[in-house]
Amino acid sequence: MVMGCANDHFLYGEFSLQEEAACAEDADNTMTDYELWRQGVVQITRTVENLPATVTAQAKSAIRELLDLKSAMHAVVEKSAGASICAACGGKCCRCGKYHLSAVDLAAYLMTGKDVFTPNFSGNGCLFLNLDSCLMSPEYRPFNCITFVCELLEDNFTGQDKDSFYSMERELRLLYQELQQIFPDQRMRKSVMSFNDAV
Ligand code: SF4
Ligand code: SF4
Repeated sequence: MVMGCANDHFLYGEFSLQEEAACAEDADNTMTDYELWRQGVVQITRTVENLPATVTAQAKSAIRELLDLKSAMHAVVEKSAGASICAACGGKCCRCGKYHLSAVDLAAYLMTGKDVFTPNFSGNGCLFLNLDSCLMSPEYRPFNCITFVCELLEDNFTGQDKDSFYSMERELRLLYQELQQIFPDQRMRKSVMSFNDAV
């Protein structure tokens, strides 16, 4: 089971409001999840492909840092027996994650040449949950998912691990903000599932 994200967890970007609406009830009932996903992937891929070379280089470097930071945060959780605690819990925090994956997160896949997974459109929980595992490896998971630790996990942190984890969380938030500014397209602040023509 994965370390996940709580529905009310703090979000680093603008899509907190989108998520709130989505978790209450899917805001856009006119398009299916599959169509929203396809629309987001196609448009974000086009945006990434059309970046000027200098921006691409800058974004790739920041994305490398982003992935390393998330791996380090996940390692802290793992060190505190996070995997077994989450397995016992059954992933209660992974029930409403479909708006967590941001355009920047998808860009991380595209710009590192990692294959983009196929969401689970048939399940009832997060679209990115397949049985009891997240379809994304820890370093590619959204901000909300990698930064969320419930009290069960946090109680197992040593004081030093706790400080280190939350210090990395602050760094990660800044890195996301930096990346959003690197991309000239303002829509990169959005979730993949709400990525449309509106800015
Ligand atoms: S133990 Fe906490 S973080 Fe892990 S799956 Fe359960 S609610 Fe989520
Ligand atoms: S993206 Fe992964 S970790 Fe986040 S809520 Fe969905 S299944 Fe859980």
